Order: sequence, then structure tokens, then C-alpha cells
Amino acid sequence: MKLLVTGGAGFIGSHIAEQALGRGWEVAVVDDLSSGRRENVPAGATFFEIDIRDRDAVFQAVEKFQPDVLSHQAAQASVAISVREPVRDAEINVIGTLNLLDASVANGVSRFVFASTGGAIYGEVPSGQATEETAPRPLSPYAASKFAVENYLRCYESEHGLQSTVLRYANVYGPRQDPHGEAGVVAIFVKRLLAGESLQVNAMSEVGDSGCIRDYVHVNDVVKANLAAAEGTIPHAVINVGTGLESTTQHLAELLQHAMETSVELKFAPRRPGDTQRSLLSPQRFTELFGAPLTLSAGLVDTIAWFRHQHAEIA
Ligand code: NAD
Repeated sequence: MKLLVTGGAGFIGSHIAEQALGRGWEVAVVDDLSSGRRENVPAGATFFEIDIRDRDAVFQAVEKFQPDVLSHQAAQASVAISVREPVRDAEINVIGTLNLLDASVANGVSRFVFASTGGAIYGEVPSGQATEETAPRPLSPYAASKFAVENYLRCYESEHGLQSTVLRYANVYGPRQDPHGEAGVVAIFVKRLLAGESLQVNAMSEVGDSGCIRDYVHVNDVVKANLAAAEGTIPHAVINVGTGLESTTQHLAELLQHAMETSVELKFAPRRPGDTQRSLLSPQRFTELFGAPLTLSAGLVDTIAWFRHQHAEIA
């Protein structure tokens, strides 16, 4: 198997690349290092430092590596930036993806795996869990661009026979997540706890409430889905990758303090524009294929250990 992972210098993509290499697959990474880091690209992977908006460079990389499957993780992945800069978001997330799709068709790539967003694509999930049949209602340019690509994938399948699998991730956490970005509350909180700093709970609606409700999924579950999708063993075009377990931001803050045996001040801040209040995914399809996803408290163990190790190395 030859797998090309875009965004393989980032959080999720680097785990996919690493575990694919561990299976003996041949792996290449495409990344412009805009938020990813060169040291995240695992040894053994071929690295192409290119921007997916650069159509010629994308075609050259795909032609050179000749992948069987393309796992597309590279993205402008911030909801807040997409609200401020919708054109840039679309240039990377839509046009960049079309460059990859065209290069895939031109080079006989058999399957395209796409990192979509279960956290944002369904909009508000006022009660219960969003299933794959729930109608997407994007509320941000980021979610709209992901949904646009999902639709393009259907066109490329019917027009060009390019098979694809859409993976709609919940809120992903785990080792190597970047705490400096705007998302990634788990990474941000762990880093602040290691420094003994207060944690900020942004309100769901009123300052002082417990914060937004999210479904936190461990990166290893995301990798499982990606590798199975790359092998073509997921019998669905779309699959949620989430736990179905809800956590408020305050619950996460308390869980982390307990797990890290520390206690800091919680600061309650107003709602952030663009944040959906409640997002929760049905894990049914995922569970049927892979067993139950890791719970948050179980998944935090290796995450905390990794950040502790990083912290000790810097200190
Ligand atoms: P990340 O920022 O760590 O990784 C994204 C990678 O893409 C980075 O290495 C970055 O340098 C690269 N990249 C960005 N723009 C590029 C461009 N124009 N050309 C080439 N490379 C570019 O983010 P992540 O959390 O690993 O997210 C991976 C994917 O999963 C993204 O598509 C994101 O939208 C999706 N996703 C993530 C989450 C989450 O909770 N982390 C949830 C839902 C969906």
C-alpha cells in the first residue's frame, strides 16, 4: 500500500503517517508547515513541502509518489479564522482539495479519504446525537467548505470513479496536538495545568455556565478509521468518528485537574462568536466496525503523559 497523507506534519496526519508506516505501508507526506512541524513527519516517510493551493506542485508530488490512496488531512482547521477570512479558508479547504482530487484522477489513485468535521458540519445538535443521516447545517465558513468537499467527492466518484470515504471527526485530542492554536482545548488546558495557570471556560450562553458541550475523541480512534478507510474496509461513504459521550468545558477542566492531581482557578468568560453550543456524534457505525471508542478519562492518560514529557524536556 502506498499512502499519501496531506497534513502529515500536523497533529492527526502525523499519527496516521506513523501508524501506516508501522503496518509496513509506503508513506509520503504533503504539508506546507503552516501549522505543522517538520519534526512531526515520521522518519521513513517521503516529505513534500508544498502548499496544496499550488496546483503544479500538487500534480508533481502525486505523479512522483504514485499513491494508491490519498488521506487528506491538510486544512485551514480553525473555525475562528474561517469566519475572519472565508476566502483564504475556501482557497485552502476547497480549491486546495480540488487540486488534490484532480491530481488523484490524473494519476489513477484508487481511493480518497477525507477528514471532515462532525463537530461543525451538523451545526447545533440541540438534543441527542447527530447520526450520519442528520442533515448537515454548516454555521461557519469552515464547516461550509468541508461540506462543499463532501459534495465534490460524490461528483468525482460518479464522474471519474474515484472512490472516497468521508470521516466526520468530533473534537480530536491526543499526544502532539498543538496547544498554541485556537482549537485544541485539551492541549491548551494540559499545557496550562503543567504551568500552574488558570483555565478559562468560555460560556455556552451566559458567563458562568459550564461551557459548550463537546464530544472528545482520541486520535488513535481517528487513525483506526483512517487506515480502515484507506484499505477500503469501511462499508459506508460517511462515518462519524466520535464517542457519543458529552462533556462540558468545565467537566473537562475538572477531569484534567483530577487526573493531573492539581488544582487551579477556573475563569469564566463570555461565549466565543461562532461556537456551536452542543455537538455530539452517534458512535454507532464506528462501534460496529471498531468496538467502543476510548472514553475521555481513558484517552487522557497517554495525552497527559506526552505533554508532561514535553514539559520536562523544555524545563
Ligand atoms: P493541524 O493543524 O495539526 O494539521 C493540519 C496540517 O495541514 C498542518 O500540518 C498544516 O501545516 C497543514 N496545512 C495547512 N494548510 C496547508 C496547505 N495550504 N498546504 C499544505 N499543508 C497545509 O490540524 P489537525 O487537528 O491535525 O487536523 C487535521 C484535519 O482534521 C483537518 O482537515 C481538520 O479540519 C480535521 N479535523 C480536525 C479536528 C480536531 O479536533 N483536531 C476535528 C474535525 C476535523
